[in-house]
Amino acid sequence: MFDLNNIIRPNIKALKPYSCARDEFKGEASVFLDANENPYNAPYNRYPDPLQWSVKERISAIKGVAIESIFLGNGSDEPIDLMYRAFCEPRVDNVVAINPTYGMYEVCADINDVEYRKVELDEKFQFSADKLLAKADEHTKVMWLCSPNNPTGNLLAENEIEKLLQSFNGIVVVDEAYIDFAGRDSFAKKLSQHSNLVVLQTFSKAWGSAAIRLGMAFASKEIICVLNKIKYPYNVNILTQRQALALMKEADKVADWVKTLKAERSRLVEELQKLSLVVCTYPTDANFVLTKVKDAQATYNHLVSNGIIVRNRNSVTLCGNCLRITVGTPEENKILLNELHNLE
Ligand SMILES: *Cc1c(COP(=O)(O)O)cnc(C)c1O
Repeated sequence: MFDLNNIIRPNIKALKPYSCARDEFKGEASVFLDANENPYNAPYNRYPDPLQWSVKERISAIKGVAIESIFLGNGSDEPIDLMYRAFCEPRVDNVVAINPTYGMYEVCADINDVEYRKVELDEKFQFSADKLLAKADEHTKVMWLCSPNNPTGNLLAENEIEKLLQSFNGIVVVDEAYIDFAGRDSFAKKLSQHSNLVVLQTFSKAWGSAAIRLGMAFASKEIICVLNKIKYPYNVNILTQRQALALMKEADKVADWVKTLKAERSRLVEELQKLSLVVCTYPTDANFVLTKVKDAQATYNHLVSNGIIVRNRNSVTLCGNCLRITVGTPEENKILLNELHNLE
């Protein structure tokens, strides 16, 4: 059975968190002399809402997740790092992750001095819950899944994710940075069934806001409490909070972007497959396409010398001679395809 008490690091369980001025006072007031702020230069003179309630209210309505089940951070990078700081004792605990996947899980493990165990995906880029469980021991606190996965682009099998959630006594993170481009519901819908589930989403991809740095974690309110307890008090600044609120008023615009990008993705895949330098394009549920070419380095170099940057994933496990190509505007995709034609 999953028990959060067995998972939290003892120092975090015992931690008395920093109490900021705005934590103590809740309600209406007009004279704020409690936080040593400058009374001039409104609205930037005031510390922002440490728990970002108005942003969470809108996210809750859009995503169908209860406010108490939402954590907001400085990009997804923040909750990724906090998973280690909250649950993994350096040099004692470990985590298990699919391989290949998003690089930040391993970087944050290294920074926090936590052992990172990799389990290779199969040739269809799918994982087996049993293989991940076989890599785990009594010190495994977190398992990392990414669906749709970066850099492979595919959704992970739903039944295997379910199986892992049911069989593993630690936390299972499902990173859904690309879920808006996929033809499947978010695992956030299953939070009530799984107390060990953490779902990550972000404003950096479908929401077109990588620059404002806003990431979301959805989980049980007990897990969210732990993350709130250890985060920097004012981790999401007021510019970011305001920009997110403004964008969420234009959800239709975001839906249009996603629709356009999905149509462009189909077109890009179709056109790539016509090229003789392309060996195959892998099925994708994200806003990028992983493509195996005859010579990734040569293709990459040719594109760079013409001002087009893609990601060379040649050295990544299972991705030999693969390029990861982000879906751009119709014009950008045309420029890319033209340049690839020139190489034929
Ligand atoms: C791009 C990406 C993110 C986004 O990270 P932010 O810090 O929110 O910008 C998260 N996870 C994966 C797998 C990604 O590819």
